[in-house]
Amino acid sequence: MSRHESWPRLTLASGPVDVPSETLRAMQQPMVYHYDPVFLETFRRVESLAKRVFQTDYDVIVMQGEAVLALEAAAASLIRPGDTVLNLVSGVFGAGYAGWIERYGGTVIELRTEFNDAIEPERVRQALEKHPQIDFLSVVHCETPSGTMNPVGEICRIAKEFDVITIVDTVSGLGAEDFSPESAGIDVAVVGPQKCLGGVPGLAMVSVSPEAWERMASRPDPLVGSYLSMLDWKHSWIEQGRFPFTPSVADVYALEATLRQAVEEGMTAMAYRHQTIAKAARESVRALGLTLWAARDEIAAPGCTAVATPNGIEADELIRTMRERYGVMISGGYGELTGKLFRLGHMGMAAHPTTLFAQLGVLERALLDLGFPITPGAGVGAAVESLAGWDDQQHEVREAPV
Ligand SMILES: *Cc1c(COP(=O)(O)O)cnc(C)c1O
Repeated sequence: MSRHESWPRLTLASGPVDVPSETLRAMQQPMVYHYDPVFLETFRRVESLAKRVFQTDYDVIVMQGEAVLALEAAAASLIRPGDTVLNLVSGVFGAGYAGWIERYGGTVIELRTEFNDAIEPERVRQALEKHPQIDFLSVVHCETPSGTMNPVGEICRIAKEFDVITIVDTVSGLGAEDFSPESAGIDVAVVGPQKCLGGVPGLAMVSVSPEAWERMASRPDPLVGSYLSMLDWKHSWIEQGRFPFTPSVADVYALEATLRQAVEEGMTAMAYRHQTIAKAARESVRALGLTLWAARDEIAAPGCTAVATPNGIEADELIRTMRERYGVMISGGYGELTGKLFRLGHMGMAAHPTTLFAQLGVLERALLDLGFPITPGAGVGAAVESLAGWDDQQHEVREAPV
């Protein structure tokens, strides 16, 4: 096999991520009929585990497509011609949401910031005061491509003061921060298993508040009988225990394993683990003389660390060197951020000292291979220092670092 065709040694991309062998084994359970009692019970268990992972009493539906399906489904199910949506844009996914709002007839009012920054809640309040016709607010929790976080709790609680329904892309936010949709004012929260939860891509989980259900159902033309319909899941699965169509049996097995692992770890512990590793990654980046992409540490993502591409190096070339010479796959920029940054990955299983140390060592070696001057060991050393006191046996109940 040529080097191009060999498996990576470490997948440290910003989703999909490497998954525990337990999850892979779960996918090999028998391919049963989806109305077999075994599968019906499995799906019920997945539903109740998902509620524990979302820390919610809202309904959580499992849509049978990757996260993008649920993001579009939220727009399709809620937004109608004549509706006005305040769309917050601090990165590639926020910018992209405008397309769905418009496709379903909504009028977009955009609040934008630089793609290395976060939306200020006070600006949201001003926009809501200025435009009382706003029906919905859409925001991305963690802008994965730029490694930044928006303060969605503060933002959505303000929106609720104005009776605005909130749609949150927290595809890579759940597990990175400890929150519940109820306390964060989130009516529709979309999550993908393949990011901080450390699961397999292919399904989307969505928590839906009673207000959001009511809004979907009370339209003059409720969206039903569609792959994009959330109401179909409510009417068939939640109310009658039927599936609107064939669910992805093997993906559901994987999701059950992923959710069980999350419940065993605890959501506070999971967020703490991601935040602690991210802090160490940022300290390493600085120790190497590189520049963080995020404008401030407080808004840097817990699941990946975006680093501005240093002068004299092509991001592509660095990523290729890490992959081809050392078998380590990391993510670059995406959309308009392509070439401007590369991302250290620490989502799911990769949010652990072992993987961070290895990743930083390979990053340092690859930078030197490309002739970029760094002090060997500077980045690894900073991470080693930052992670003093780490203990797999008791990392859960300490306070998360800033
Ligand atoms: C990964 C991601 C998506 C898209 O998810 P896929 O299902 O993998 O296409 C959407 N939004 C954010 C913020 C993401 O990180």
